[in-house]
Amino acid sequence: MNLHEYQGKEILNSFGVRIQRGIVATTPAEAVAAAKKLTEDTGTGWHVIKAQVHAGGRGKGGGVKLAKNLEQVEEIAGNIIGMNLITPQTSAEGKKVHQVLVAEDVYYPGDSEPEEYYMSVLLNRATGRNMIMYSTEGGMDIETVAEETPHLIFHEEVDPATGLLGFQARRIAFNLGLSGMAFKEMTKFVFALYKAYTNSDSSLFEINPVLKTSDDKIMAVDAKVSLDDNALFRHKDYAAMRDTREENPVEVEAGEKGLNYVDLDGNVGCMVNGAGLAMATMDLIKQAGGEPANFLDVGGTADAERVEAAFKLILKDPNVKAILVNIFGGIVRCDRVAQGIVDAYKNMGTIEVPIIVRLQGTNADIAKELIDNSGLDVQSAIEFQEAADKVQAVLA
Ligand code: GDP
Ligand code: MN
Repeated sequence: MNLHEYQGKEILNSFGVRIQRGIVATTPAEAVAAAKKLTEDTGTGWHVIKAQVHAGGRGKGGGVKLAKNLEQVEEIAGNIIGMNLITPQTSAEGKKVHQVLVAEDVYYPGDSEPEEYYMSVLLNRATGRNMIMYSTEGGMDIETVAEETPHLIFHEEVDPATGLLGFQARRIAFNLGLSGMAFKEMTKFVFALYKAYTNSDSSLFEINPVLKTSDDKIMAVDAKVSLDDNALFRHKDYAAMRDTREENPVEVEAGEKGLNYVDLDGNVGCMVNGAGLAMATMDLIKQAGGEPANFLDVGGTADAERVEAAFKLILKDPNVKAILVNIFGGIVRCDRVAQGIVDAYKNMGTIEVPIIVRLQGTNADIAKELIDNSGLDVQSAIEFQEAADKVQAVLA
């Protein structure tokens, strides 16, 4: 589950990571009130207004703007709230902005230049260990840094038996070229960030940029946080931070129905039981010259209700030209699934796209007969290849 920047920063703050003060606003008037409050608390007159959407690169898309007075706060907030923000990480349509974070400007203009670094904590799947990845080149795409100047990206792997050690935090501060007060601040920052990552059961904490202010404070200016869904039951307060407006609506609906659905770009809808078989089915569709329109695991109980819900989800995608149902009847009997398909089809009236059903396993023969004798426009198959050929034929 992904979080908004302001939510990620709340978590960071609760673990002692320094952040700039900020308040969320959903209207220009709220933004002005937030800016006034920040000025009272911090003395700052300048504010940064930041679109809160689940996508990076907001600055490039015009979703991060500096306001030098309250009139500008109102004007900028008015422009950003409600806009469709297009960034390198959104689709071409962009993402609708529902709220902005109004934050104190921490890039003190004047005496010395602020420095921006990159830092993230994530699991290194190759070694099975958490690692801190960091770079002197903050504020820009880390992908570009990785491509053009890979020697400027460093990492520190954490031994789970000892946890993060002092010399590692000091090495990070050293490699970032820090000394004195900033060096000390950075080691504190690294420890607090690592603690936030582990204690929140996150899979990613990415801070880009980490800022060194002209008075040597180290703070998180941005926060991209992904929480591990499987650990959310331990964090009811974080689970409540979910913003379904930011997610794919069909995926949200599938989740509510207990279906495991991932939207894809192709033209063949697939309904499968079991994640492994779903992957194999997607391969099969590709071999037959199609592209999967989705990943869908209906799970163990493929009864009429679930099958119908699954058909409805798949048919919401206008790109779907055919549906391949590929179910292995192990625990659930094939004839029951077939009956479920027939019932679902009848309940839905007509389905405009061709359907190919492959049922294999317990009572597969009875299931095939049931489909063939249903009088519905459904083609049945028992062998994998047979199903693939039929998909190829309907796409041709
Ligand atoms: P992103 O574009 O979605 O990654 O959003 P960021 O939070 O990283 O902000 C983008 C850029 O805006 C940063 O790299 C900074 O250069 C700038 N920025 C962010 N916060 C401030 C601020 O408080 N003051 C000023 N002057 N610039 C800021
Ligand atoms: Mn950023």
